[in-house]
Amino acid sequence: MNPVSALPQSSITADDLSGVGQPWQRDLSRAIRTSAELFKRLGLQPEQVAGGLADDEIRGFPVLVPESFLARMRPGDPTDPLLLQVLPRQEERETVDGFVTDAVGDLHARRAPGILQKYHGRVLLIAAGACAVHCRYCFRRDYPYSAEPHRLDDWEVSLRAIEGDGDVQEVILSGGDPLMLNDQRLEQLCRRIEQIPQIERVRIHTRLPIVLPSRVTESLTGLLTGLRPQVVMVVHANHPAEIQGDCRDALRRLVAAGLPVLNQAVLLRGVNDSLAALEGLSRSLINVGVMPYYLHQLDRVSGTAHFEVSEELGRRLITELQARLPGYAVPKYVREIAGDSGKTPVFSG
Ligand SMILES: *Cc1c(COP(=O)(O)O)cnc(C)c1O
Ligand code: SF4
Repeated sequence: MNPVSALPQSSITADDLSGVGQPWQRDLSRAIRTSAELFKRLGLQPEQVAGGLADDEIRGFPVLVPESFLARMRPGDPTDPLLLQVLPRQEERETVDGFVTDAVGDLHARRAPGILQKYHGRVLLIAAGACAVHCRYCFRRDYPYSAEPHRLDDWEVSLRAIEGDGDVQEVILSGGDPLMLNDQRLEQLCRRIEQIPQIERVRIHTRLPIVLPSRVTESLTGLLTGLRPQVVMVVHANHPAEIQGDCRDALRRLVAAGLPVLNQAVLLRGVNDSLAALEGLSRSLINVGVMPYYLHQLDRVSGTAHFEVSEELGRRLITELQARLPGYAVPKYVREIAGDSGKTPVFSG
């Protein structure tokens, strides 16, 4: 999960997107890119949406919503939980104490170009700066993607650094969204990682199966199941209404291919800060074979304060979830504290 004002000039080059004609690439090119279009398609008047921002007021991180995600919103509902995740609002422009650009200390964790390491045994590789959706609460919306490597050759220095570190067992492909790379680029990167003897796992942090389900093709699952390292998929859905139709089918395809699939969600005001939403999310996930992994306390990134839910409410919600669901359906409620050796439990019951 993650990007910047540098998102538009992301690390995806025209070349990476070659092979256009893939249905998912066509779906991406047809995504909605303005608030005005979003309102029109949902039958909403801008004044119905509290603090909705006009397109010319949004700088650097414009509206981006694939049709598939739009199709899962309720028309005419200005409080739709999917809409609220992607709709720019006035509050984004407010400066709030404690909300800063690099809230999770990413810039201090940069070990080599495109590589962040905060925790033992695993490194995070910023594989692509772009995403298929722009989530307004994104914690890496201000990450300087344009400064990171774009091509496999540019990665070489960083991959050698991983090679020279016998303690690293897992490479996490993140971004942006690593599945924004086309299959050819993704395969090149994965094959190179596969050559590093001590790498046991490749983890893919992606929102594409949720927001652009057509990305989950047979050639993608074939690529991911054909690697020597075990691939682990971590998707990102926040509300049960996301797990429907083509998204549910895409998750089933990943699971049917034999890939472990986990979900991380962010606790978001107005989106999933209720027992009904969190319970529904967990049930929708486990019923397609996806395991709830983390529920993240919002990282305090500038422009996202209006999404914050108190930890007190978060703890209460998790307690209620524990009373209602099988143990494996309850995500770990965590927050990221810069400098800690792993995600920090906000609550473990
Ligand atoms: C969150 C994060 C990870 C993954 O942590 P897990 O607890 O293994 O899921 C790895 N690296 C960085 C830099 C992270 O922020
Ligand atoms: S999918 Fe959303 S939260 Fe994840 S990196 Fe992209 S914009 Fe950020």
